[in-house]
Amino acid sequence: MIDAERRAALEVIAGEVRGCTRCRLAETRTRAVPGEGDPATEVAFIGEAPGMNEDREGRPFVGRAGSLLVNLLGHIGWQRDEVFITNIVKCRPPGNRDPEPDEIAACAPYLERQLATLDPSVVVTLGRYSMGRFMPGVRISQAHGTTRHADPATGAADATVFAMYHPAAALRTPAIERESYEDVARIPAVLVEARERRAGTARTATSPTTVEADRGATSAAATSAAATSAAATPAVESAAEPIDQLSLF
Ligand code: URA
Ligand code: SF4
Repeated sequence: MIDAERRAALEVIAGEVRGCTRCRLAETRTRAVPGEGDPATEVAFIGEAPGMNEDREGRPFVGRAGSLLVNLLGHIGWQRDEVFITNIVKCRPPGNRDPEPDEIAACAPYLERQLATLDPSVVVTLGRYSMGRFMPGVRISQAHGTTRHADPATGAADATVFAMYHPAAALRTPAIERESYEDVARIPAVLVEARERRAGTARTATSPTTVEADRGATSAAATSAAATSAAATPAVESAAEPIDQLSLF
């Protein structure tokens, strides 16, 4: 999918979210918060649910937790508009209570469609609820800073999941804030590994419709590099990185 198609597909989903009444959170929200970011990004950050500020503005992570997320991204030289940021549920639970299982289930198709559209290489979960969808059955105290391959049923067809604490937890607890900075520093290496794994998949594919070709559709050089890689070259690592949307350090 080329960037314009991704953007359009994400906008269709966002429009549906803004008008959604599939669960009771529709009754108490001010604005639904579909999520935002670069449609061509390789990395999606998934939080829990909008809070008061997000509910007012209709944008994810714009309050204090959002400031910390921006600082964490800045630690690795990234900006929030280079990634995609969304939540497990798109509407604010009243009083910031935890989202309930039926609300999470009602909202899940939107996240699945967003991930299917983005096809990210890395999904970063922020907090327990987000982690629970991508790494079921683990404890965040053990799993933060670690990776898993995403179950394609999540919508992410070929992604590495990386778990982090929720920025709001880091705001409450200095030790968690320190660990969050250590965890975020691992993401560039996780992205490099995920790119290499995906490039390996593309090399063995019989169809020339490779991940690289899709991703590099706006760049002739990238497309031909991907085509070369898909055709025969045994292990040209550089051909696996046709894009440079996210600088690595
Ligand atoms: N916390 C979240 O999990 N998501 C937001 O969008 C804001 C705060
Ligand atoms: Fe719809 Fe999700 Fe909002 Fe519930 S939380 S009303 S399912 S968008």
